[in-house]
Amino acid sequence: MFFVPMVAMDGWMMADDGGGGMVTSSQAIRKPFPRIRFTNYNRALQSPLMMTNNGHTANIVLPLTNNGQRAFIEGGLLPGTFEAQSVHFHWGSANSRGSEHLINGQRYDVEMHIVHKNVRYATVAEASLRSDGLAVLGVMLQAVPSLISTHFGLNRILDRLPQVIEYQSSTTIAGRLTMNDLLGDISTGRFYSYNGSLTTPDCAESVTWTVFSDSVKLPRRQVAKFWDLLDERSLPLINNYRNPQEINGRPIFQRTLI
Ligand SMILES: [Zn+2]
Repeated sequence: MFFVPMVAMDGWMMADDGGGGMVTSSQAIRKPFPRIRFTNYNRALQSPLMMTNNGHTANIVLPLTNNGQRAFIEGGLLPGTFEAQSVHFHWGSANSRGSEHLINGQRYDVEMHIVHKNVRYATVAEASLRSDGLAVLGVMLQAVPSLISTHFGLNRILDRLPQVIEYQSSTTIAGRLTMNDLLGDISTGRFYSYNGSLTTPDCAESVTWTVFSDSVKLPRRQVAKFWDLLDERSLPLINNYRNPQEINGRPIFQRTLI
């Protein structure tokens, strides 16, 4: 099992307009580095697409795409080519927000993490021990009063959450779905990037984070489905985010648009 990115290494505070203890725009280093290049993100994922309540989050294991390859990313500050492995979420509760990163001092309702593994390494477990092993894309989800769902991909997933309320329950997400469907219409050219560390004793720095500035808006009634999930003790699985950590002089980069 792979729990590391959900509980152990997320959560540097980021803000570009100030705020208590957070990185300000003068601290985020603006650089004109390349945009992220997405390959096979436009291809249908093979079925079945499985989502499981693992007691920490709703986790989707990503299959190959319909050309027999994985969806993968390059560019940005990524030290190599990284294949999409899994998707999971961090959320709050009916009266709290649950994103792990703060942008402009704002915590969002939900944060989606798309976990990628460097193609140099055979498994996620091996990659998580290497400094260039993992890359995670962070996408902020914002609950809005609207009743109308315009985000096709995420709504398909959120519609299935009632099937994974119990710990260790699984469900399949039927129909054609691409990685681009998960990203929706966010502008992927605007993002922050930094190297995050594990909290294991050796503090290996294995994750290159890419956190998009743009957020996805979803009806609040859809976001509310996360709050019904239960953990291994049958208690509400809420607020499954790690509190932001001190920056410790770690550089956070912000992509500037050329
Ligand atoms: Zn996570």
